[in-house]
Amino acid sequence: MQFKLACSALRLILDWAMAMNDLESIEIEIIESLAAIREKASSRKQQLLCCASIRRLWCRLSKSAQTALMRAESVADDLDFPTSTIGVSANAGNSIDRKDRYAQHAVSACCEIRPDAIAALTYASIAGDSQLVERTSQLSLIHDIHEPFLQADFTNPLIGFPVHKDIFDLANRIYEGRHPHSGVFDHSHMVVLADNLLRFGFRDVAMLSHCRVERIHVRGCWVIDILLGKT
Ligand SMILES: [Zn+2]
Repeated sequence: MQFKLACSALRLILDWAMAMNDLESIEIEIIESLAAIREKASSRKQQLLCCASIRRLWCRLSKSAQTALMRAESVADDLDFPTSTIGVSANAGNSIDRKDRYAQHAVSACCEIRPDAIAALTYASIAGDSQLVERTSQLSLIHDIHEPFLQADFTNPLIGFPVHKDIFDLANRIYEGRHPHSGVFDHSHMVVLADNLLRFGFRDVAMLSHCRVERIHVRGCWVIDILLGKT
């Protein structure tokens, strides 16, 4: 009996150590990726990455923090936003628990004139139920938004391929039709987009597989951005 208990305890310790090891290596990869893209990616894309990471905590955010987040996205996309709804409430941190406060800190870091991506993503990871899950998701978001900036030899696959109006309209509908809380695009529509790109003779493997592989796509997705001419 004691031997079984000792084995269970050892298993738990080993699992915990492995999770900590995974978390540490993912954190290092995120910081290295952010450093690599800082010089190459637009401030819009960097802000949208922060926003997408924090949107995962939508239910933890106060109404004013949700509004501030939506405003940050609108500003990033150079869109108008009602000024009467601006700002994270100064008192929002008084009556909320520790994780909610970290979510609030994440929004504040994201809404600065020059967003602090490292701080925003760090706060967001602490505010989530599992740091490992949040960090893993953040890495996936980095690849969805910044993939081209992580590759030294990336060239725009649309050079020499005029985007047909039908493709543009479909990409725009995907962009505008994102989930109101998570901000995630409908994956099935991305697959339809890949089918349509093929129908119009487009054969770039990286773009097509990005649309087809089941993964998260958010505002700033490099494929949709390229099709819409966003930077
Ligand atoms: Zn994408």
